[in-house]
Amino acid sequence: MILAAAAALAAAASSDAPADVSVTRRGDGGFEAIYTLPRAAPAWGFFRSSLAAEDRQPWRPRSWTVLTPGVRLERRGAYDALVATDGGPVPRTVRVRVAPYTSELLSDYVPALRLGEDGIALFDGQFSLFSVATPAALARLGPDPEAGPIIDTSTRVRFRGGGASQLRLAGDTAGYRRGNSAGTYGLFGVPGAVEQGGMATVVDPQMPAWLAADIRTFTPRLLDHYRKLLGSPGDLRPTVLASWAGADKQGASLNGGVLKGLVLMRISGAAATRPSPPLRTLAHRYIAHESAHFWLGQMVTYDKAADNWIVEGGADLLAIRALGATEPGYDMRAALQKSLTDCLAASKLGGLSSAAQRQDFQVKYDCGAILSLVAEKVAGGDFPAFVRRLIAANAGDGAVSTEEWLALLESHAAGRNLATRIRPLLNQAQPTARGWTELLTAAGIRYRLRPDQTPELL
Ligand SMILES: [Zn+2]
Repeated sequence: MILAAAAALAAAASSDAPADVSVTRRGDGGFEAIYTLPRAAPAWGFFRSSLAAEDRQPWRPRSWTVLTPGVRLERRGAYDALVATDGGPVPRTVRVRVAPYTSELLSDYVPALRLGEDGIALFDGQFSLFSVATPAALARLGPDPEAGPIIDTSTRVRFRGGGASQLRLAGDTAGYRRGNSAGTYGLFGVPGAVEQGGMATVVDPQMPAWLAADIRTFTPRLLDHYRKLLGSPGDLRPTVLASWAGADKQGASLNGGVLKGLVLMRISGAAATRPSPPLRTLAHRYIAHESAHFWLGQMVTYDKAADNWIVEGGADLLAIRALGATEPGYDMRAALQKSLTDCLAASKLGGLSSAAQRQDFQVKYDCGAILSLVAEKVAGGDFPAFVRRLIAANAGDGAVSTEEWLALLESHAAGRNLATRIRPLLNQAQPTARGWTELLTAAGIRYRLRPDQTPELL
């Protein structure tokens, strides 16, 4: 009886075990992934199964080659999957050859980035999988697989470096080490990281020299500036990774993505090959905004989308102030005036908290920056101090709500009814500038009224 119970316990423990995949770089620049699957299942689906951006077709068949007999890579419904060819279970060990896929996806992080001659950054999220009881179940799964009949015991990814391909991790490195990464790139053979105080800047060796030199100088200085103002970023090991996507197209473009602990930036275009002050400022503003999220956005974040102005507007104000402090000639007043003007225009259509329902994805930055300016003013001109208190006050659940933000604001400005003035701006359309100008007045922010009754910051 006791023996049977022990055996049942052992079985339960093993069925909860995570899938395990070790990913090793091969001599030819490709990778080999070896899965050890924890249970018998006829199919394993991939959580991240976004289509390729260029042709809206699955990208994995172009990148992955299954080497183990008896299992095939297939598209089932909205998911790429490993499916047993004979209807039985997928073998418990599956070997896959991976040729890094470096093009954009429709709606996910790029699976791999080429960095210089030999460098590759590989996204661990592409390896995460779940099992289903029948392959047919995959076709019925909606966009959130967790809502369907799947078994997910997580996937532990182990990047194997060593030898010539030194390995560096960028992203949710603490989660990666625990085996439940929220997104980490393994950087294989990528040289030239600038590191200080646990924070790293990695620039593609192919990046145009003027831009590479600029980012390598600006970014460590910025991160150090933030750390002095905002404190240690906790167990994050922030990395800013700037990659060069080629000069094939005219003009210049900058895009990217953000993971916990990682700002990813891709720059491309012929115009970026020559020094360009506007592009430099654009890159600085991007890096400064996204890096501010290591503190405001990752050490503390929000629960409801209606509250996202707190971190987006706050990151914008931190970025504007950081550029003012580090870049000679940067016009902070003009940047804030643009936020205010755009905020007033958007406010005519509805309150800030319902902006997403109106498909307005910009106003959270603009009005959020102005509300952050109010917080800065009542905190004696020290917005970073306000952010530090916000982080400390919400360390418990790591999330801040609008009411919690307003309560902190009130604690700096008793008797000025700032929260009472702000709530209507969040919840109702503002046909005129009056609600906002009265808030500026109550906060003590200097402005003059133009003939059309709109405010101009002084
Ligand atoms: Zn942001």
